[in-house]
Amino acid sequence: MPSSNEQPIPAARPVIGEEEIEAAVRVLRSGRVVQGPEVAAFEEEFSALVDGRHCVAVNSGTSALHLLLMALGVGPGDEVIVPSFSFAASANVVRLVGADAVFVDIEPDGFSLDPAAVEAAITPRTAAIMPVHLYGHPAAMDRITAIAGKHGLAVVEDACQAHGAALNGTPVGAFGAGGTFSFYPTKNMHSLEGGMVTTADAETARTLRLLRNQGMETRYANEIVGANMRLTDVAAAVGRVQLGKLDGWTEQRIANAAYLTEHITAPNVVTPPVAPGARHVYHQYTVRVRGDRDAAMAKLTEAGVGNAVYYPTPIHRLKPYWEPDQKAGRSWDLPETEKAAAEVVSLPVHPSLGQGDLERIVAAVNALGENL
Ligand SMILES: *Cc1c(COP(=O)(O)O)cnc(C)c1O
Repeated sequence: MPSSNEQPIPAARPVIGEEEIEAAVRVLRSGRVVQGPEVAAFEEEFSALVDGRHCVAVNSGTSALHLLLMALGVGPGDEVIVPSFSFAASANVVRLVGADAVFVDIEPDGFSLDPAAVEAAITPRTAAIMPVHLYGHPAAMDRITAIAGKHGLAVVEDACQAHGAALNGTPVGAFGAGGTFSFYPTKNMHSLEGGMVTTADAETARTLRLLRNQGMETRYANEIVGANMRLTDVAAAVGRVQLGKLDGWTEQRIANAAYLTEHITAPNVVTPPVAPGARHVYHQYTVRVRGDRDAAMAKLTEAGVGNAVYYPTPIHRLKPYWEPDQKAGRSWDLPETEKAAAEVVSLPVHPSLGQGDLERIVAAVNALGENL
C-alpha cells in the first residue's frame, strides 16, 4: 500500500499550465477564434518537427487521418493495410471513407506493422499502407517505404502517438505520402483537441486545406465537396505553447524510460524494445507481463502505481469489424497481435514524474517477483 503521504502516481498527466491558459484567454479576447493567425503560426512552427513538410491543422487526429485518406483519393473498392494492434481510429477512418481495412500482424519483437506480413497482404486492390508508430516508437519505415515503392502504394503514417520520434534521423510524419498527429490531452503534446496532417506534396496540402473547410479557399467559391474539420485559434494557441515545451518533455520521457529499463529486473516483465536507429519518444512505456497480467496490474495499483492496457482488444475483434467478418466467413491470422493484447501493460513515464516516483514504480514492478 502507498504510505499515507504518497499519492498514487497517475498513468498520464496532461498539462494545462498558466501559459496555456493565458494563450487561450489572449485569443478569446482577440475575437479571432477560428482558423486564423494562431492556426497559421501553429502549422508553420510544427513544420520544423517534420523536416519542413507542409502542415495542415485540423480538429483531431482522427480528422487528420480521415482527411488524408480523402485527399489521397482512397475510397470504395480500395484496401488499406493497417495493424489491428492500435487505437480503433486507425481502422475507423478506412471504413469512414468506404474502403476496407486489411489487418496485418505486428513484429514479434515490437509493436508496429511487420513489413514481411505487409508485403504478403498486398492485393490488386491495395491503395495504401498505414503504419502506426505505436507508443511513440517508429514503425519499420525503411522496409515499409521500400515495399510501398516497389508496389506503387501510398504510405499514410499514423504518428498520433509519436511527436518527435525518428528512424535513422528522419522524423515520423516525413516518410510517407502523408503523416498525422493528434493533440488530444494525453498525447505527448496537446491542443485540448486537435490534429495535424503533414505532407511533402503541395497539391495534397492544398487539397487538405480545401477538404477541411467545405472545399473552399475563397468563401462561397466551393471547388470540391469538403467537411468542416477546422481547428480553433484557441486550440492552436494552446498547441503552440505545448510545442515549445515538447523537446524538453520528450528528453524527460526518454530519461524516465532509460531509468525504468535499467532498473526493472523482474524476470517475467519484458521492458520495451528499441529498434536500431530508432528515437522512441515514449508516449507510453509499455512492458509485456509474462504471467497473470490482471494480478500484476492489481498489485501495481495497490502500490499506487498507475497502469493501463493499450489496447486490450485488437481492432479486428471489436464489434463493427468482428461481426461483418463473421458474417462473411472472413478471419485474420494475427498471433503476435493477440499475444501483445494479452501481455502489455503501460506504466507511468510522463515528464512530471520525479526521482521518487521512478523509484516507486521500479520497486512495485520488481516486487511482482517470479510467481506472476
Ligand atoms: C489518439 C490516436 C488517434 C486519434 O487521435 P484523436 O485526436 O483522439 O482523434 C489515432 N491513432 C492513434 C494511434 C492514436 O493514439
